[in-house]
Amino acid sequence: MAECECLPKCPFFNDKMETLPAIANMYRRMFCKGDNSGCARYQIFTTLGRDKVPADLYPNMVERADELIRQYSH
Ligand code: SF4
Repeated sequence: MAECECLPKCPFFNDKMETLPAIANMYRRMFCKGDNSGCARYQIFTTLGRDKVPADLYPNMVERADELIRQYSH
């Protein structure tokens, strides 16, 4: 499985966000080292750019990501 290209600088991956370790590890396996196309942070990174990824956005918050992408694309 490929690693996410954002991984070296990603605050979620690098433990800069408040997390429950078991859940964080599950997301890291699922998204960061699995399929990053399902990660909310990655979706914003690829559509709006790195500087638009909210500091408190977790990988599973795809609805919030969709909403932000909609707002910015109008
Ligand atoms: S998959 Fe998401 S959380 Fe993981 S490193 Fe990439 S952008 Fe960060």
